Amino acid sequence: MATRKALVGRRAFLGLGAVVAAAGAAAIAKGAAEVSTVKTGGRTRKFVAACPPSSREYGTRRPGSTRVMVIGAHPDDADILCGGTAVKLLERGFKVKFVSVTDGRMGHHRLSPDETAQTRRAETLEAARRFGLDGYDIYGYPDCGLYPTDDARRLVARKIREYEPDFVFTHRTCDYHADHRATGQLVMDAGYLLGVPHWCEDRKAQRLRPVILYMTDPFTYPRELRPDVMFDVDAQLDKWCDGLDAQVSQFYDWLSWDKGVEAEVAALGDRSDIAARNAYLRKYWAARKQRDAERFADAWREEFPERPVPKYMEVYEVSEYGRAPTEDDLKTLLG
Ligand SMILES: [Zn+2]
Repeated sequence: MATRKALVGRRAFLGLGAVVAAAGAAAIAKGAAEVSTVKTGGRTRKFVAACPPSSREYGTRRPGSTRVMVIGAHPDDADILCGGTAVKLLERGFKVKFVSVTDGRMGHHRLSPDETAQTRRAETLEAARRFGLDGYDIYGYPDCGLYPTDDARRLVARKIREYEPDFVFTHRTCDYHADHRATGQLVMDAGYLLGVPHWCEDRKAQRLRPVILYMTDPFTYPRELRPDVMFDVDAQLDKWCDGLDAQVSQFYDWLSWDKGVEAEVAALGDRSDIAARNAYLRKYWAARKQRDAERFADAWREEFPERPVPKYMEVYEVSEYGRAPTEDDLKTLLG
């Protein structure tokens, strides 16, 4: 903590720990952008961001548990994309809250929309219990009908101001689902405004905004995800499967129907064979983590040359619209 007090001022930020300070690589940005230079493991990166890093002037992270808010569009996005990371961070004493901005009411082929929304709400509570989350909030905007409206932006911002997360994970705005794009847009739009005192005055503005990170996606236009923060989640996969298993209406029902693999689910019977159940969940839902481990293997070797490339990886890109991450921030995340 003491090192934070030694930070330089608003415009020229040098990465904490002074590992790269001598290189003089921290650029100066006038006006709207902050720039931080960060070294973790064998990689040195420069991040441009809209909001200032922790400092004497802008505040430092509160003592105690680090807080993470995972803001997904639907009541399973956080689980699928960030579940292994959540398990890992919870093991290290973080507090983690999952959010679904929509009610997920379109996510079933037999249940009515109302029944689906109700079922999914109950299932997310069970998922929260199994993961050990600090809550799984559903904001209730209509599934397949989310737009980055002023109303939604204010709600997302109020919730962030209330929970005061150190890190917010969300979708990129080039993801396949319109709700994912709208969710990413809402978080990006709120990023700077979180610190504007007269905006949403019923919640205290944040001098120190959260670092925002984008969850992984496979898309390449306008460019593919940049692997800024990578987690080895091999050891968390069984616990992650247990979390997914709570959402019966999704992973064994709607999504298996959507993928055309209902026969495989039927073969699982009552799913009392945990190994078979986990094998099924890994086959269809961990494949992306396996692909990411291959896709970002070079970045992993550069950052962690002493560690083997994991089989399953969860990967994030630092957003330019949140707080500029310090070396301390990323080391806190990476452990
Ligand atoms: Zn989704």
